[in-house]
Amino acid sequence: MKAAVIHEFGGPEVLRYEDVPDPRPRKDQVLIRVRACAMNHLDLWVRKGLPGVKLPHILGSDIAGEIVEVGEYITDLRPGQRVLLAPMHFCNHCEQCVAGRQNLCREFTVLGNAVDGGDCELMAVPAVNVIPIPESLGFVEAASVPLVFLTAFHMLTGRAAIRPGQTVLVLGANSGVGIAAIQIAKLFNATVIATAGDDHKIAKARELGADFVINHYQQKIGDEARKITGKAGVDIVVEHVGAATWNESMKALKPGGTLVTCGATSGPEVSFDLRFLFARQLALLGSYMGTMGELHDVLKLVFSGKLKAIVDTTFPLKEIRAAHEYLEQSKMFGKVVLIP
Ligand SMILES: [Zn+2]
Repeated sequence: MKAAVIHEFGGPEVLRYEDVPDPRPRKDQVLIRVRACAMNHLDLWVRKGLPGVKLPHILGSDIAGEIVEVGEYITDLRPGQRVLLAPMHFCNHCEQCVAGRQNLCREFTVLGNAVDGGDCELMAVPAVNVIPIPESLGFVEAASVPLVFLTAFHMLTGRAAIRPGQTVLVLGANSGVGIAAIQIAKLFNATVIATAGDDHKIAKARELGADFVINHYQQKIGDEARKITGKAGVDIVVEHVGAATWNESMKALKPGGTLVTCGATSGPEVSFDLRFLFARQLALLGSYMGTMGELHDVLKLVFSGKLKAIVDTTFPLKEIRAAHEYLEQSKMFGKVVLIP
């Protein structure tokens, strides 16, 4: 089969479109023909080099396709079914996995991170990862859903325990997590304040349901959020930007508020005054992907049309270098999807 492979870490030039051996499914696995693989910022981090990534390596976390073949032990899936893949790897037998907390498993990783991903034509995966999709959902849309919607759903429900009517600040409305978080928060009738970097993205954020949008290049996020809330502050901040926004995000919180973060795109080192944390009784929560149960929950909302994937553009897999360059420019609003 053809695959986009990296043999060394570095810029987009390390991506090679080449022939690799076809994978063979084990008796407990399913062979998938990949029809679409959506990109995430994670692809860029892995390409540049992350600990735990063994070379050569195939990137790509968000996969949709068709079942080609099922292993002998599998009785509930059949060739020809249209499916998406849970974008994660876990052992499925440790005490965290059997308790339904797969993202706390010691083996937990994202597909395309410490294990090979879907920037290729065929993939063999455990049956637990394979989730049938409705006819109404195209492969490109289906591939655009799993990682970011699961991440945002776990942040807001599993970690921050959102309640109806709360006020939620979502950073980076044009990011995958931002697009998902705005929509999920609106399902809870939250007042959503989003941030975006230009007029086009601000308009798109409003279309998604954001009640207020702050231009994060021209306005101070913390000050604006306090102004919008009549000085009260917000209940929850959805963070993934990191160093560039952290202090503004903390300033935006009301006393007793919760900041939940799943990323550090602009840098991982932050500092703040501990007195601000304890005196205002803030909660700072880390969040990583989500559980299989949460994935099934959020997919039901996608399959019924209550949540929508937003696709920016597609690239043929053989043009993966151009796709990486495009993602690095951050001009997109929505997912960039590779087509094998
Ligand atoms: Zn486990």
